[in-house]
Order: sequence, then structure tokens, then C-alpha cells
Amino acid sequence: MDLTQLKIQDKESVMQTYGRYDIAFASGKNARLFDTAGKEYIDFGSGIGVVSVGHSNDDWSAAVCRQASTLAHVSNLYYTEPYVRLASRLTELSGMSAAFFGNSGAEANEGAIKLARKYSRDKYGDGRSVVVTLLQSFHGRTMAALTATGQSSFHQHFFPFLEGFRYSEPNDEVALADALTEDVCAVMVEGIQGEGGVLPLTQSYVDLLMKLAKEKDILVIFDEVQTGNGRTGEMFSYQGLGVKPNIVTTAKGLGGGLPIGAILADELCRDVLSAGTHGSTFGANPICCAGALAVLDIITAPGFLAEVIRKGAKIRREIESWNAPAVAEARGKGLMLGIRLNDASPKEAAAQLLAQGLVVLTAGADVLRLLPPLTITDEEIDQGLAILKRWFAAL
Ligand SMILES: *Cc1c(COP(=O)(O)O)cnc(C)c1O
Repeated sequence: MDLTQLKIQDKESVMQTYGRYDIAFASGKNARLFDTAGKEYIDFGSGIGVVSVGHSNDDWSAAVCRQASTLAHVSNLYYTEPYVRLASRLTELSGMSAAFFGNSGAEANEGAIKLARKYSRDKYGDGRSVVVTLLQSFHGRTMAALTATGQSSFHQHFFPFLEGFRYSEPNDEVALADALTEDVCAVMVEGIQGEGGVLPLTQSYVDLLMKLAKEKDILVIFDEVQTGNGRTGEMFSYQGLGVKPNIVTTAKGLGGGLPIGAILADELCRDVLSAGTHGSTFGANPICCAGALAVLDIITAPGFLAEVIRKGAKIRREIESWNAPAVAEARGKGLMLGIRLNDASPKEAAAQLLAQGLVVLTAGADVLRLLPPLTITDEEIDQGLAILKRWFAAL
């Protein structure tokens, strides 16, 4: 089907939940995408940070195909090898103690919220169920994850939302201390807010959070759905901050294109979700776990994360060197980058760039967000930056 046919069929039989760009992709290789008419694009979006090791990566695709032709699914009523190996790899890489597998970021956050509330209730009884999250945060689209999301624009249509959430201004240490009252069981943060605008937490804010939470036995949850799995040049963003949360959630880049999410918990709370308290039919699916294992093999190869840092710094330096009036600021870490725009709409910018052969994302009200595949080559970077430079120069 070509784009016109796809659009007609989509309108006819698909819920119109998304404002899609006028484009249909047919294939991809590393950081290149090809539309149904055969036109080439450089991909600085990775399907929203998902295609971490590039489109149709050979090693990833071989691992996935091998597992698909061996055993696709049996459910969590039985043991299988891929999820056991993945849990062992992830706990080792994160410094956490045990993993639970689901299918998405929102689902991982739902589970983390359940875990935190049960931890507190088991230990202290009722009345300590509040989860503090940050303004401008994004935690997903299911009811609890949506309630946790600290953006009022998301808190519409679906009333009533859940009880027991409190929002605090990121990097405001006084507000944080005020928010952590006796009724709080957990604080959930992103090391760098992704959808909110590529906004990093400061070191001193995170240090204070860890200190207060420890004193009050409040669990710290790092939502590493977007920042995790090498995106920032660290395996997880909290490792760059030198701290260790109690719970880590991750998804997006973990599966390299397959739907998988994980909750990782430390020694303190790894046994809270006891038999029968949580589950997922598709969770720990062998094919998704095989894909994730292939991703982890690639991103933990010697020197890989140093390359992520180098490539991110190169992109940021290049953008800064243009001195374009429309660039207010280039920020971010590793290959999670934000360009804050002056007097230009990121939505319109993204549409125009797409027409010129570059895929970018937006974030917040005024930010262009770049999340290229971590395996992007220098040649692909240069080609993408040339398109971006031309666009800024033509403003
Ligand atoms: C994308 C995202 C989510 C939601 O993940 P889904 O897989 O879409 O449910 C949660 N948290 C953060 C930080 C995200 O970027």
C-alpha cells in the first residue's frame, strides 16, 4: 500500500488517537529510514528512543529470529531461559537485586507504584501511600502512570484520577523537603525529564532527595524508561549522578524495538511483590527477552558508551557552533539531546525537517528532542546535522 491508501484505511478502521505526520515508513537500516516511496531519511528519533541499536540491526534481528523459531511464549507459569538470563544481566548492570518484566514503560511504573505502596503498608500500615512526582514529568498513559505524570494537560477527560499523588517542582530543594511529609511512601523522578523538555535534575537536588528519603524510609524510584539502557552514555542516568535508587523502571530502548519493560528493585524491597500480588501474561516473553539480551550485549561492548558520549558531545558542539538565532540552548547528555527554540514552534520545525529528510522529536513547549540510535555512525550524524543546519539557516 502507498501512503494515500494507508491513510484511507487508517481513517476507516483505526482509532484516530494520533496526529500522525504525512509519511509512511517501510524499512530502515541503522539510522536511516525509507518511506513507502523509497525516499531516505536520517533518524534522530529512534521511534521515540526505542530502536537503541539501530533499525534492523543484524545481531539483534538474528537473536530475535532464533528465539522466534525456538519458543515464542509459554507464560509465567513456567521457567524459561531468556528472562532468567536477562534478569541476571540487568541486576548486575543496574546494581539492583531483582527484576520483574512487563511490556511497557507505563506498566513498569504502575508496578513500581504498587510495589512502593505495598512496601510501606507491609511495614507501617495504612496512611502512608502518597507518591511524590515532579512537575513536567512524564510517566505513561495508564491511570496511575498518568496520575503520576506532573503535567496538568494530561489530567483531563478521564476523571477520577487516582488518590495519593503529590507534585513538586524539579530542582526546588525547599519544595522537596516540604513535600516529604509522613504520608509519603515514594518519590518517582526521571534523571533527565524527557517528554518534559530534556530537563536534567541537578546533583545537589538528587543528593538531597537521596538523603531525605533514606532518613524517612521513603523509596526512591528512578524512571529510566527513556534515559536508561545507555541513552545518556551511562547504563542508567542515576549512575552518572553517583546514587542508587531503591527501584528502577525501564522500557523503550531495552528491547531494541520489541515491547518490554522492567521493574528493578534493590535488596530492601525486592521481595515486596510476593506470589500472586503482580503479574503479566506477556511479561518475560522469550522473544522480547532475547531481543533485550542482544541490546545489552551491544551496548556493554568495550568502548560503546564512551562513543555515545563522544557522538552526543559532537552533535551538541556542532549545533552550538552555528550560533543560530533560533537556538536558545542545546542541552542533554549522551544521545539524549534537546534544542530549546527561540520563536519557532517545535511541531512545525519537526514537520518541515521531516519533509527535508530528517526525523526529530519534540518535547515540552519549545524543545526539539534528538534521540538517535546509539549506534548512529559519524556519517549519518553529519548528514542529519547538515539538514538541521540548512533548516536553521533558512529561518
Ligand atoms: C515513554 C515514557 C514512559 C511511558 O512508556 P510507554 O512504554 O509508552 O508506556 C514512561 N516514562 C518515561 C520517562 C517515558 O519517557
